[in-house]
Amino acid sequence: MSAPPSEQSFAGMVASPGLAFGPIRLRFIVAAEAAAVAQGTPAEERRALEAAIAAAQARLSELIETSDPMAGEILAVQIAFLEDPELAAPALAAIAGGDSAMAGWRAAMNEQIAGYRESDSAYFQARAADIADLRDRVADALANKTAVAPPPQTPPQTDAILVTEDLPPSRFLETDWSCYRGAVLTHGSAASHVAMLARARGIPLLIGLDADFSALTEGAAAVLDAEGGCLIQHPAAATLERYRRRLARLRADATADAAYLDRPAATADGTAVQVCLNVDDPAIVEVIDPVVCDGIGLTRSEFLFYGDTGLPDEETQFRAYVRLLGWADGKPVTVRTLDAGGDKPIAGLTPEREANSFLGQRGLRLSLARPEVFRVQLRALARAAARGPLKVMVPMVTVPAELERARALFQEVVDELSAEGVEARLPPLGMMVEVPAAALAIATFDADFYSIGSNDLVQYVTAASRDNAAVAGLYDPLNPAVIELIGRVVDHGAATGREVSLCGDMAAEPKFLESLLKAGLRVLSVAPAALAPTKAAIARYTLGGEDA
Ligand code: PEP
Ligand code: MG
Repeated sequence: MSAPPSEQSFAGMVASPGLAFGPIRLRFIVAAEAAAVAQGTPAEERRALEAAIAAAQARLSELIETSDPMAGEILAVQIAFLEDPELAAPALAAIAGGDSAMAGWRAAMNEQIAGYRESDSAYFQARAADIADLRDRVADALANKTAVAPPPQTPPQTDAILVTEDLPPSRFLETDWSCYRGAVLTHGSAASHVAMLARARGIPLLIGLDADFSALTEGAAAVLDAEGGCLIQHPAAATLERYRRRLARLRADATADAAYLDRPAATADGTAVQVCLNVDDPAIVEVIDPVVCDGIGLTRSEFLFYGDTGLPDEETQFRAYVRLLGWADGKPVTVRTLDAGGDKPIAGLTPEREANSFLGQRGLRLSLARPEVFRVQLRALARAAARGPLKVMVPMVTVPAELERARALFQEVVDELSAEGVEARLPPLGMMVEVPAAALAIATFDADFYSIGSNDLVQYVTAASRDNAAVAGLYDPLNPAVIELIGRVVDHGAATGREVSLCGDMAAEPKFLESLLKAGLRVLSVAPAALAPTKAAIARYTLGGEDA
């Protein structure tokens, strides 16, 4: 008798949190090969492409019938794309010039996809995946084959872990998720539509799995740990049991937490706590109803700067900020100015090969060093501030003079815009409190509001990098020095009537809640998936004392 296969663990990045276990189900996306399609006359090729587009439309319409409203909306947008004669026009022109339907279609779509990918906006970049999905769907119809190869054997499974290369949105939507407990992609991006769809549905999703398909076995038992970020193949009995217990606990907790999502947050003894949203990618607002939060407490504006076509212009930024204001529907929207540097390099902007970059030219330090870039962002923000309750905060402030320079520059661009006859306003200007020097000397900073960035504050106070697992034990948000600094900032806010919030990940961890509430914090800002658990944890907590 051969020995049972030994446990293997493969690392991946968490795109949608959760746990799942079941057999691995490998699915291979087969690219439609242009060369595989025989060429007819241009008229035949044209008819073939039109028929394939019609078939793709019909399939998408069928999918809408069985989709929920959010999914239906995404599919309707895809159908609208297909119905737009401009979409196929370049392909039809290429066919008229002698290309095969497949070659013409793929080339034309690839050009459009490249255009979307090059956009400065994360929103348009994410649309590239939608167009790629349409490209493949029509190409499949042209090639008269399914894009998904049948599995080697197809036993009826209801609890599998889907492992594939990438998953375009409509394939995600047509996947029968009652057959799968979670998914793992060897490619993918956490900012993609699919990651968003997975998060919205609570489907655990790992991306960028560090494994070759040949290392994975169809049907092998596996644990998907989309919390710790790994896929465990052939788990040992003890591993399986440990995860089973964790999963049962997670499921029970999630059901209980969901009831709190739509309610304003308050402790068990009635102290109101504002729970705002952290936005890393504005596409998230497509799937979240603003009623579930008290506004946006942190917008990481870095998303605008990640494209590979240079820095975003004023108009692109203005549109992104106004879009958030429109979504928030009167609730405050806090945008943080660019926090590049540290672990967030931006080509052409952040210094190259900077030693100890977390202590280098990041955040406001970099913005002040590059006023020509900073001014563009401030102009866009000043214009957006005229459209709604925008608040702006600056990251990595160390000394009051930096805040004052930012304020002076902001006032300058407001005056400049007014002189140009452009509607603009100086919004409340707050600061992130994430450098110990700022927390210690908080009374010397004349900010309109303060937002504690616990992710960085903890790493700078404990001198333990936030991204180094080897010192994770020292990176402790409950270190008394951290708690003392938080208390100091909250007290200063209370004494001067200025809002203090906390927008680092510490706000989203129920085990830290007691310390934060006891320190006097009443405004938290958390990632979308943490809204319900945070509100539920607040509701379970009895504050006691004068506040209640
Ligand atoms: C923080 O430091 O806590 C924070 C919210 O900012 P970031 O995680 O983007 O550095
Ligand atoms: Mg920070």
